Amino acid sequence: MQTQITEKTETLEVVHHSPNPSNPTSQVDFLVLKIASRCNLNCTYCYMYNLGDKTYLQQPKFMSEEVIDTMLERVIEHVHKHHLTAFAFGFHGGEPLLAGKAFFINFVNKTNALFAKHNITPNYFIQTNGVLLTRSIGKLFNELKIQIGVSLDGTEEINDAFRIDHKGKGTYQRVVAGINKLEDNRHPVTGKIRVGLLNVMNLNCDPVELYYHYSNVVNVESFDLLFPLANYQVAPFVPSKGPFSKSLTPYADWMLIMFHLWFNDKSAARPHIRLFDMLIKQVLGASASLDSIGNKDNGLLVIETDGGIEPSDVLKSCGNGITKQNLNIKTNALDDALDKELVATYVHNGQYLSETCKRCPIVEMCGGGYMPHRYSKVNGFNNPSIYCKDLIKLISEIQSTVVDNLPREILDLYPLEKLNYTEIINEIYAQSYAS
Ligand code: SF4
Repeated sequence: MQTQITEKTETLEVVHHSPNPSNPTSQVDFLVLKIASRCNLNCTYCYMYNLGDKTYLQQPKFMSEEVIDTMLERVIEHVHKHHLTAFAFGFHGGEPLLAGKAFFINFVNKTNALFAKHNITPNYFIQTNGVLLTRSIGKLFNELKIQIGVSLDGTEEINDAFRIDHKGKGTYQRVVAGINKLEDNRHPVTGKIRVGLLNVMNLNCDPVELYYHYSNVVNVESFDLLFPLANYQVAPFVPSKGPFSKSLTPYADWMLIMFHLWFNDKSAARPHIRLFDMLIKQVLGASASLDSIGNKDNGLLVIETDGGIEPSDVLKSCGNGITKQNLNIKTNALDDALDKELVATYVHNGQYLSETCKRCPIVEMCGGGYMPHRYSKVNGFNNPSIYCKDLIKLISEIQSTVVDNLPREILDLYPLEKLNYTEIINEIYAQSYAS
């Protein structure tokens, strides 16, 4: 899939648009910590190491105690300034488990003690490739209240096409073995493993097979579907043969097969699928959002192993060095990052919209799509998502399905209309062509 990304990326001038720097409510409440800047795997589509950005070569391999202490001081300053009562940390890499168990014990104990003095609730997450998981790590993360996310891209054949190690060997067997070691992380009633899988979609994978594979074979509580990283420079992968090859909305068609299966699944094995859960909440009027979709701000920054403050690391897929902001927690407050245009654009992703998105009837739900999917050399991030048509189809069909399944008396109280994909496309794009 993402091996399609062959264009050599280079240091790029970022072209922005309509900045809205006067948002006084901006606040960061989530730091993604790059605690290890190397990985034991070598996935071909990895935006950290294999999509053109080589800045990791200048990074220390691990986050030092000094960086952690300074970062925590910055967090305390920030939390008081913005009157926050909770703050979250995501352990990330490279592969964060390379940091070793002692790192997590030290970090969480230190942070919990500090936060207790300031009445702040901490939340912890880890995103791992799963290969180094053991039963004792699972137990430890239970004790430390670290929620586990594992990256896996489907069945063995599909996963191993791209998620490989440094010898070119597939990793599926080792990842699933790692997940199965988490005996102490099972739900006491359902027996499902309390892990969230992150799955990059692959149109060569049968969505029906994938659904049952995750629900019944890998047996996890939840998973999420990510669009492959693509933009106006690097087109999304579409297979030349098969059921999605001729579609204008292949990713939506693929996802909708899974959506209908999931929506109608009344079994105990039914997992949470984060994207679908979130879209249904939005249809029903809840304030829900992910950084990849929706109109809410993303109060998220990345702290590199050397203390560098950066916007989301997925933007590395748009060019070598693009996320470097010349900011470091040793000399800067977290708020300083919000003065940087690229960071502000990411944090207010759903407000920095192209003209096309501004007139879109589903912009509240879509938010213009994920920022790296908007990138072009000509307009920077001033474009609708490269997956715009897929998003319109996905959102309109999910809303229509929900409407079809709501009781009449609820619809009388809360009028909610079905959406029509073709009408929305005509409304948005007819005007684009006219202007
Ligand atoms: S569906 Fe397309 S036009 Fe509408 S907000 Fe999303 S990216 Fe923009």
